[in-house]
Amino acid sequence: MPPAPSKKEPAPQIDQKKACFALEVRPSPIHRWGIYAKEPIPKGRKIIEYTGEKINRKETNRRADGPLNYLFTLTSYWTIDGSVGGSGAQYINHCCTPNCYAWIHKGHILYMSARDIQTGEELTIDYRFDHDVAAVPCACGAPGCRGTINLKKEPKVRKKAARTAKKKTVKKTAKSVKTTAKKRSR
Ligand SMILES: [Zn+2]
Repeated sequence: MPPAPSKKEPAPQIDQKKACFALEVRPSPIHRWGIYAKEPIPKGRKIIEYTGEKINRKETNRRADGPLNYLFTLTSYWTIDGSVGGSGAQYINHCCTPNCYAWIHKGHILYMSARDIQTGEELTIDYRFDHDVAAVPCACGAPGCRGTINLKKEPKVRKKAARTAKKKTVKKTAKSVKTTAKKRSR
């Protein structure tokens, strides 16, 4: 289990103006800080917008080398860096069976509830790291944990189906949360 943040480290803040439900930051058993529901959240509702500085591909590659980063891949060219002007959504941890998903709407990244969420539950999202970048072990502890934050490579036998679905998959991947392996280093 990853170490909890040091007691001296102040808890990150949530910008409640960007949130539609009461949320709080607490140390997480998954990774460092986590975001928790302070009230019940019904399925299919906007919870919080993921905000940050919009940076291009070159700047993304430069920042991805940092020890801890919060980069959300918006398109193949643009990335949102949640460490600069982030709403707090950047602290939502990865889980292989998450209770949230990201919806890109008119250039905004909206974190939505994938199911009903109870008060006190940690909010989680599937980061969907590519299978061809450095593998990051997953500590989500969910029964359906795939072992890494990275997606599994499509098996060869499914090549034809994968090719048919390629356009859709690429689009979906670009819209998913993708930080780099460096995020997990401490
Ligand atoms: Zn997992």
